[in-house]
Amino acid sequence: MYTMGNEEVEAVRRVAERKQTFRYGSPAAGHGNEVVLFEQEWADHIQVPHVLATTSGTASLICALAALGIGPGDEVIVPGYTYIATALAVTNVGAVPVIVDIDESCTMDPDALETAIGSRTRAVIPVHMQGMPCDLERILAIAKSHRLLVVEDSCQAVGGSYRGRHLGTWGDAGAFSFNHYKILSAVESGAFVTSNQAYYERAFIQHDGGCNLWPEVVGMTTDIFGGGNFRSNEFAAAILREQLKRLPGILEQLRAGKRAFVSELQLPESIRIAPMHDPDGDCGVQTLLTAASSGVCRRAIEALKASGVPAVTPADSGRHIYKNWQPVMNRRGAHHPAMDPFRMAENRECRSHYSPDMLPQTLDILERSIMIMHSVDWNDAERTRLVDAASAALAATA
Ligand SMILES: *Cc1c(COP(=O)(O)O)cnc(C)c1O
Repeated sequence: MYTMGNEEVEAVRRVAERKQTFRYGSPAAGHGNEVVLFEQEWADHIQVPHVLATTSGTASLICALAALGIGPGDEVIVPGYTYIATALAVTNVGAVPVIVDIDESCTMDPDALETAIGSRTRAVIPVHMQGMPCDLERILAIAKSHRLLVVEDSCQAVGGSYRGRHLGTWGDAGAFSFNHYKILSAVESGAFVTSNQAYYERAFIQHDGGCNLWPEVVGMTTDIFGGGNFRSNEFAAAILREQLKRLPGILEQLRAGKRAFVSELQLPESIRIAPMHDPDGDCGVQTLLTAASSGVCRRAIEALKASGVPAVTPADSGRHIYKNWQPVMNRRGAHHPAMDPFRMAENRECRSHYSPDMLPQTLDILERSIMIMHSVDWNDAERTRLVDAASAALAATA
């Protein structure tokens, strides 16, 4: 969450005063339709025909995979650097995640994707990590030539774009998260997006297994199946509508700060700016640097921190590294053995041989990557102070 203020407080008040918090309801009976309005506003903003508000990014990924008909017998390729939810969405629908390397951009390595495709592979989930677009051109071309479905995990790249088109709208479906840590935030929230009407209806059913029992849900042409409950609510949507108004300003501030930071930053020979697939579409939440060795990276992080620069190496943020995805590494994909994709007969031919050291390229890159986190609250003086401190710290590490 970057910014939250009185507008969000007023939005919560407005819902509370209506005493209408459920996603469905009749405006004639005083219902505010905040969820529906948020869906329309997000659709307009990212230019996609269908948006489904959900409870989380994870829920959105599960809805996406269910919408695409992914299940037992299918492999889905995910990168080794992402939040565990990307992989767990796959096991949640009964399929098997195949985990592949990232490259120095800290996003899925298209070569690794291509190499990993097998006879069981049905889909790929490229993840736009830390606001940075993946190599969508190559990933989409590979997916097309192998007839793979594409779900873009845009949970960390809300508002980002690739070649002028919004992230999340390039693949067959996209998933966004609006949890506390994301660019926009409202309680626990997310959104599923697609341009395909049938996928939208299937996602809708997955997100509310009882949807056909509500008079507000009309015009569905897809046969109902047993879904779950990932419904959004009026509080979350009302907050998100206010958050969305802030998004252009948040991104402008982050991007301007990053542009200035990168142009002013002095780097020693052993550290460089990491490659990026579309700097204009990047959200600007951080600047990614690549060090020549893990030793240089460690020293750099220490020196940066000592100088008060908010720097991390993704190797330390354990949540996002495949080797720490315990349920996946231990092949415990569900609460019940008969529902566990790693034990299902249908998945016998799917590859699930995981080990902590199976992606040395990913581990090496993460141990050489430095992220300097940016803030929407930077003014010129603060940025100049940080960039000078960072340049000095990095010069001393080389
Ligand atoms: C946050 C995140 C998710 C999950 O989102 P939730 O809203 O926490 O369920 C999925 N993928 C990535 C890359 C994320 O960062």
